Amino acid sequence: MVDLTRRFDVLVIGGGNAALCAAISARRAGASVLVLEGAPKFYRGGNTRHTRNMRCAHDAATEILTGPYTEEEFWKDLLLVTGGQTNEELARFMIHESKDILNWIVEQGVRWQPSLGGTLSLGRTNSFFLGGGRAMLNALYRTAEELGVDILYDAR
Ligand SMILES: Cc1cc2nc3c(=O)[nH]c(=O)nc-3n(C[C@H](O)[C@H](O)[C@H](O)COP(=O)(O)OP(=O)(O)OC[C@H]3O[C@@H](n4cnc5c(N)ncnc54)[C@H](O)[C@@H]3O)c2cc1C
Repeated sequence: MVDLTRRFDVLVIGGGNAALCAAISARRAGASVLVLEGAPKFYRGGNTRHTRNMRCAHDAATEILTGPYTEEEFWKDLLLVTGGQTNEELARFMIHESKDILNWIVEQGVRWQPSLGGTLSLGRTNSFFLGGGRAMLNALYRTAEELGVDILYDAR
């Protein structure tokens, strides 16, 4: 049970990937945090639970990524997808910061698996969550709870 008479330093509204990363970061920085997830616990995590992988820039192959994916290549790929309708400053910031995510998210308990084969050729660019997006979310929720983040489901 969450004590709603308490005052919290940070209120995070939503309970997907963005919310959990924000909540964990704020808590690690010393803030008290309340996450208000609109969904019931079983359906927590919005679209994040449907995901399978994330694309991050990296300068060298890793245990599960077959080769480098530079910031410049990521930027060019983004332009192809958006047809140039891209805020360059914001996009380059996101791409640069993405390089830290591969390690950071492992520190939050998320595990990787080798790329899926078949019609997807993403083994160099995309890191796949072991167990899929639901497993990633479960790891983030577990870490948030262990850190002392308060979570309220069915929040209105
Ligand atoms: C089928 C599918 C597959 C995808 N696969 C991938 C993939 O493999 N890789 C990838 O990078 N992206 C993928 N995406 C995109 C990815 O899911 C989204 O970019 C990502 O989930 C966005 O994260 P988020 O935390 O912003 O939002 P969400 O994950 O959608 O989380 C939103 C959260 O807010 C909560 N919420 C909403 N309204 C309220 C409210 N009023 N009050 C309180 N809580 C509220 C929801 O319950 C939910 O928990 C996929 C999307 C879909 C639909």
